[in-house]
Amino acid sequence: MSSSRISRISIGTACLVAAFAAAGTAASATGSDTDVPSYKEFKASTYQDVDGAYVVNGDEIVSGNKQLKEFYDKVVAPQSMHDGLIVNTVGGVDDKWSASQVANLTYCVSTKFGTRQADVVNAMATGAGLWEAASSKVNFVYVSSQNSNCTTSNSNVVFSVEPVQTTQYIARAFFPSSPKSQRNVLVDDSIWSSGSWTPGDVLGHELGHTLGFRHEHTRPEAGTCFEDNNWRPLTPYDSSSIMHYPQCNGGSANLKFQASDATGVRALYGS
Ligand SMILES: [Zn+2]
Repeated sequence: MSSSRISRISIGTACLVAAFAAAGTAASATGSDTDVPSYKEFKASTYQDVDGAYVVNGDEIVSGNKQLKEFYDKVVAPQSMHDGLIVNTVGGVDDKWSASQVANLTYCVSTKFGTRQADVVNAMATGAGLWEAASSKVNFVYVSSQNSNCTTSNSNVVFSVEPVQTTQYIARAFFPSSPKSQRNVLVDDSIWSSGSWTPGDVLGHELGHTLGFRHEHTRPEAGTCFEDNNWRPLTPYDSSSIMHYPQCNGGSANLKFQASDATGVRALYGS
């Protein structure tokens, strides 16, 4: 297996879980998540390219000390002071379900999964259970009667879970703001051979997106894998969040649900 089959990220309607091998994943040991680095510490930890430019957000540059300080004041310091889960925003507004809808997030699991269909049903229950256990307001509802017609066109369910054949990702999902025509969770067969990522945890990550949660590694503290700034922090940064790719300077290799994820979902939807 490749050690870094990092996927492309598609912002707006779908987010992807990259395939990776646990071996070679760098663990972060940067200490407390809530410590705001001083400018001096930030500057010392920021990579300086061969031409002297500082590299921020993974692949963007700022040219000198003055510009780096401006970046720190504008992006690093304020974000670090916020209370690891972040919610997607659209036009500055939280991308979330209504209280009544989040209590009844119905889904089917396509019979096109064939012999794996029951395994997908079980993994969905496991992934949904992570969020449901953290917030009594969140309730995913499996509607097996729609499995034989389980597509984005089926208006009897909020979303569908369908198989896909791809080398680009293990699974991908959608956000609450996505139109019904895009509301599906697509699952590739590689979910059954994803190393230290269990199928339940992979789908837990995907269901995090369906609740509105963005990749934790787009926050500046990750120092890499930046996507965009259209999000609002719900908790302090957590490099081990289930929404943080391990290969993006993540704090753990196994994509497990963390206490910060529980805190975040409660902050958005209530306990
Ligand atoms: Zn994702």
